[in-house]
Amino acid sequence: MSSIDFTSVRKVYDGEIVAVDGFDLTIESGEFLTLVGPSGSGKSTLLRMVAGLEDITDGTISIGGETVNKLPPRHRDIAMVFQSYALYPHLSVRENMAFGLKRSTNLSDEEIYERVDDVAELMGIPELLDDRPKQLSGGQQQRVATGRAIVREPAVFLFDEPLSNLDAKLRKHMRTELQRMQQELETTAIYVTHDQEEAMTMSDRIAILNHGELQQVGTPRDVYNHPRNLFVAQFIGSPSMNVFDVTYEPTDDGGRLVGDVDLEIDAERAAQIEDATTDELKLGVRPEDVSVSRTSSEEHVAAYVDIIEPLGGHDLLYFELEDTGSLVSTEAATLSDDAAPETEVQERKAFIEPESISEDAHEVFLHFDLEQIHVFDADTGLNVAHLDELEREIAPSA
Ligand code: ADP
Repeated sequence: MSSIDFTSVRKVYDGEIVAVDGFDLTIESGEFLTLVGPSGSGKSTLLRMVAGLEDITDGTISIGGETVNKLPPRHRDIAMVFQSYALYPHLSVRENMAFGLKRSTNLSDEEIYERVDDVAELMGIPELLDDRPKQLSGGQQQRVATGRAIVREPAVFLFDEPLSNLDAKLRKHMRTELQRMQQELETTAIYVTHDQEEAMTMSDRIAILNHGELQQVGTPRDVYNHPRNLFVAQFIGSPSMNVFDVTYEPTDDGGRLVGDVDLEIDAERAAQIEDATTDELKLGVRPEDVSVSRTSSEEHVAAYVDIIEPLGGHDLLYFELEDTGSLVSTEAATLSDDAAPETEVQERKAFIEPESISEDAHEVFLHFDLEQIHVFDADTGLNVAHLDELEREIAPSA
């Protein structure tokens, strides 16, 4: 078990491609931390720098208090599990799992095979020990690759999208299994994925990256409920947060957000918005914070039904704010650029009670849960409500 510290870590490839910039983070000993972000956001580069497979351009990385910038990979006490498993095809499962220990330790063969047996038991694969990798399913190969990492009893596990080659059902199962295994061993782990759902379900904390920069770090619940900026708000959560263009107008007892929608907000939120750097705001509302009403009221949002998707426990309503007749406008856009609508038609969604809208409903009244709305400064993308607390969270030493 070891903590991992990143201090002002920067990585530039070929003198010009900035892959990671100003990355500061402390991962606690025994913590399961997930690095999540879109493709190209710098996740693998960070992981490879911890592993020692990539030089660090600037800053320091320490493992267990020791700076490892110049330490060769084999001296870092880490074990890595890759997307490709990287098993040796000509060796049995037993020999694959024993390989690293034979090379890097002075343990006797007896001790090594004892450990391999124990870990095979933990991973539920004792009956596969004499098989070759090509005889195994994807899920079994994944277990062997993870087992091979565990056998080494490293201070740190590094996982690079280890489940992405598995089908959806197996991926969910392996998620739980990896999590259980990590909790049992209490080994510090960094897990890289582009899949926000994987990040949400597995991690103690999530660090969200975009363009090589840390956007926010927090527990899954934290980043979901208190997104620091619009990027995090839209990246975390599925279906993603609905966003509306609005401006702010002060009133006697608070204010209003007007534009795509027209909503009254209370004095506390109005005060936060007054600190924004611009008049242009983005209003964010998660699909579960929108409800449908049959009747209009002062604070409703009129919307048009696009599609209703039954999902079992609830339905997913796709709605639009203006009656654009989406099929017609999409068709027009493909016919001629000039005919394309000026504004981008956004896909907006709400979770609703099954059958709460009749199948032929066209116009509906929506209500937004005003306690749960998010307001972002359109220039900086920052969440106007959580600025102070989140700045402290990102830079705890500041
Ligand atoms: P992610 O893992 O989030 O997909 P990466 O860390 O692989 O992102 O890449 C971050 C950025 O660095 C991207 O712009 C990518 O093209 C670039 N990059 C990654 N590896 C190399 C490399 N070996 N040489 C040059 N550029 C690289």
